[in-house]
Amino acid sequence: MKVSVLRIRTWGSGVILSIIAVDFSPVPDFEMTNSSIQRFISKHRDIVHQIINKYMKPDKKLLERSQHRCELCGSNKDLQVYVVEPANHPDNQMVICAACNDQIANPETMEVNHWRCLNESMWSEVPAVQVMAWRLLHRLKYKADWAQDLIDMMYLDEETQAWAEATGEGNEEEKIIHKDSNGAVLQNGDNVVLIKDLKVSGGGFTAKRGTAVRRISLVHDNPEQIEGRVEGQQIVILTKYVKKI
Ligand SMILES: [Zn+2]
Repeated sequence: MKVSVLRIRTWGSGVILSIIAVDFSPVPDFEMTNSSIQRFISKHRDIVHQIINKYMKPDKKLLERSQHRCELCGSNKDLQVYVVEPANHPDNQMVICAACNDQIANPETMEVNHWRCLNESMWSEVPAVQVMAWRLLHRLKYKADWAQDLIDMMYLDEETQAWAEATGEGNEEEKIIHKDSNGAVLQNGDNVVLIKDLKVSGGGFTAKRGTAVRRISLVHDNPEQIEGRVEGQQIVILTKYVKKI
């Protein structure tokens, strides 16, 4: 099988590639449309990764800049090119390792601790790297307080900031964040415990301190409220009276 990757680009939140398969024997030359590329990729993920690794090796200049390391985590394994969207920026390529690339393409697999590396890479002088660090920190801030701390410390010049925001990532800047009594970020599905006896108005009972409330849901427009089931009833609870467990 002989395949050439002519273009790599991203869509949505993930990196994905436009492949033009040449001599994809026994199929003759053809160019895939976007949706068929998506189908192709979901069906042949392994092959696609092999293709990228094989054909989209970073060039010498990129490798020199990155010192032969992933510009996000510093790994020297399976280095690839990553094109930071929108790709019309003159210096849109960076060197990235397969592990980082995988997690960027599949946000639900992001391991929070892996991305502690952004602590260093966010200070890179390369705008493309700054942009990716910024976007990834925005993805992580709901999972880890330190990510928000790093965002607060980060400084991007005007042009780079505009590039970082261009894909809409971090757009929910004003998104409401729920925190428990200790300041820990709460998410849908978390388990909490009540730190105070709470009289349930209309419920006719008191939810006792120490009661565990499992799989809470966040009240999306109010950072001080969550909902959870106590004694079989769905009730609204103030975040200041719970502790994440
Ligand atoms: Zn990496």
